[in-house]
Amino acid sequence: MLKAEERSILFTACAGHPVAYCGWCLRGFKPAQLAYNLRAPMQGFMCPDCRRDVTATVIKHVSSCPAFVELHGRKAG
Ligand SMILES: [Zn+2]
Ligand SMILES: [Zn+2]
Repeated sequence: MLKAEERSILFTACAGHPVAYCGWCLRGFKPAQLAYNLRAPMQGFMCPDCRRDVTATVIKHVSSCPAFVELHGRKAG
C-alpha cells in the first residue's frame, strides 16, 4: 500500500512512464491510466481493463524507479 504522500510523488515523478503491470492483460499502465477502488481509494490500484489489483507492481516500481526515489528523497531531506 502507498501512503498519500507516496501516491502524490508517484503521479509527479512517474507520470510519463508505466508504473504498473497487469499479468493478466500483459500490459503496462501509467499512473493516470490506473483505476481505483472508489469505496476504498487508499486500498490500491487496479488494472483499468480487468479490475484486478496491480498495487504490488506499483510498489515494486517505486522501490526501483530513480525518478521516484529522487523526488522522495528530496521531500524527506
Ligand atoms: Zn517511475
Ligand atoms: Zn488487467
